[in-house]
Amino acid sequence: MAKKPAKVPEKYARRLTALRSAMRERDLGAYVVLDRKDQYYLTGFTGEDGAVLITSSRVTLLTDGRFDETADIETPWAKKVVRKQRGADSYVKAIAATRVKVVGFDPNHMNVLTFSELKKRLKPIDLKAASGLVTELRLRKDASEIAAIRKAIKVAEDAFVATRRYIRAGATEAEVAARLVFEMTSRGASGPAFGPIVAAGANSSLPHYEPRNVKIRNNSIVLIDWGARVDWHISDLTRVVAIGSIPRKMERVYQVVREAHDRAVAAARPGIAAGELDAVARDHIRSAGFGDRFSHSLGHGIGLDVHEGPGLRVGATVKLEPGMVVTIEPGVYLPGVGGVRLENDVLITREGAESLSSLPL
Ligand code: ZN
Ligand code: ZN
Repeated sequence: MAKKPAKVPEKYARRLTALRSAMRERDLGAYVVLDRKDQYYLTGFTGEDGAVLITSSRVTLLTDGRFDETADIETPWAKKVVRKQRGADSYVKAIAATRVKVVGFDPNHMNVLTFSELKKRLKPIDLKAASGLVTELRLRKDASEIAAIRKAIKVAEDAFVATRRYIRAGATEAEVAARLVFEMTSRGASGPAFGPIVAAGANSSLPHYEPRNVKIRNNSIVLIDWGARVDWHISDLTRVVAIGSIPRKMERVYQVVREAHDRAVAAARPGIAAGELDAVARDHIRSAGFGDRFSHSLGHGIGLDVHEGPGLRVGATVKLEPGMVVTIEPGVYLPGVGGVRLENDVLITREGAESLSSLPL
């Protein structure tokens, strides 16, 4: 007897419906999804090797033998193709079987080799670049995603509190980073969201510093930027810890960054343009006399990826909407002296914004 096809879980059905309407708007008969996070978002499939082909009526999952069983467990409702080799062959077959005229793909996630092979071999089917279809859907988080992000924040915060006593003079940046990862993983994180930044003293003026075997010294600051990955979703936080007393100059920097952060969180609401929110913090920092020392954007969306839309950057016109989760992370960096960045994760709600992190700044 043939096995009854499993029903598509409501969460994925909703996302697939939205994707299909975007496909129709762009006249795409099929869409091939190559990004692992996009695949997870649309199907729940976590396998490392995968491609998902979506048409108006069907979802086909291409993977290899290592993830055959994973596919049955996680995505039993999709048509499964276990391929022997990566490369164009399996795509050509699966796409040809759909009998569509135009198949879309996200150019951010297809390499040039696959593209040129497919372009040639798919004819007369047209292969068309269509970026941002899934990215656009992922901008607004549903309840299950917000719950996962909350968990990722809680794990990161608890891990920070547990690590706090190791952040002291004599400990190295690398030791503190390792401790943070250990504490997050022991609390249920599948790993860190990214390699934690632990920057002691003057190293903190380098926004994307990598921790080394450098000792933390008395009367200095330590900048820590870390996050956890829980249920595939991430958190992203930054705190600055004072070891002993800190130079008056850095105290002033801290105060200005703190005010910029608080102003931006207070201004975050639906309808405000991302660039407008960036300006709230940037203008404050500029008027405090640190004009060109805020060298990156105010924040970014978080979710399955550490950096996703919307980007809160100078001039960005995208308007914030309920369900978006963004970081607010102003910073001021004085080369050779040190830097302060304060970062929290904020959910845009219907009325304004809710700060999802409760760890004191
Ligand atoms: Zn961060
Ligand atoms: Zn960030």
